Amino acid sequence: EEEIPEDHPRYQDLITRHRIENGVEKGITHLQGMHAEGRGSAFDYLLGEETIPSADAAERAAAAHLLLAEKPVLSINGNVAALVPGEMVELAEAVDADLEVNLFNRTPERIEAIADHLREHGAEDVKGLTADARIPNLDHQRAKVDADGIYAADVVVVPLEDGDRAEALQEMEKTEIVIDLNPLSRSPQVAEVPIVDNIIRAVPNMTAHAEELATASEDELVAIIEEFDREHALAAAEERIRNGV
Ligand code: ATP
Ligand code: MG
Repeated sequence: EEEIPEDHPRYQDLITRHRIENGVEKGITHLQGMHAEGRGSAFDYLLGEETIPSADAAERAAAAHLLLAEKPVLSINGNVAALVPGEMVELAEAVDADLEVNLFNRTPERIEAIADHLREHGAEDVKGLTADARIPNLDHQRAKVDADGIYAADVVVVPLEDGDRAEALQEMEKTEIVIDLNPLSRSPQVAEVPIVDNIIRAVPNMTAHAEELATASEDELVAIIEEFDREHALAAAEERIRNGV
């Protein structure tokens, strides 16, 4: 990261790419994560590489959901671990959520490497290693979750999630918060709260909202949730990407 001059016009994007490359080298990110990153980067370019107002509203609604949750869980895959490990730990602390490693291409080595990586960034307890429950209606490998983690969660944050798993979690009637730069992808389309923003901006902003709302009453949090309009958020993101407005 030190080799990229900070005044480079593509600085943030280059840093992001490097983090994914390092993640692959460290064994925490699957090679396919680089394709996901490339797609995300293209959408972010069209969004103007900024948090649009509807995404900020989604991040605030997500924070309210997490604060009201009885059992919130944040799902971590290889790209999430490579891009925002410390930021996910901070969000988990701000809303008192658990972190669970949840991989599309699941191997014991990658799960361990990601759990270690999160611990290096301050995580105390990392779930996802037991994998003693299954999400219904998904093939065996992709269905694996912890019984006292994602399986039991009432609110889940699933960044950069695969469409099939996002749908299967929705069928379990969890409140699903998806972070994904493509508003047309199935994962944000099925989410209660679709956050169309770069995870690098989205997670710290969710934490900031959560900290600001820490003393809010239950009624205030419910009002924020009810005010949020998911259809509008998806449409506004698509409008920005297609027409730049
Ligand atoms: P599918 O239609 O099966 O969902 P996909 O093209 O969405 O396929 P995935 O591997 O499911 O591919 O997901 C990658 C998703 O993650 C893409 O939608 C991409 O825009 C998004 N993404 C990649 N990097 C980021 C990032 N830094 N922040 C937010 N979203 C990202
Ligand atoms: Mg997708």
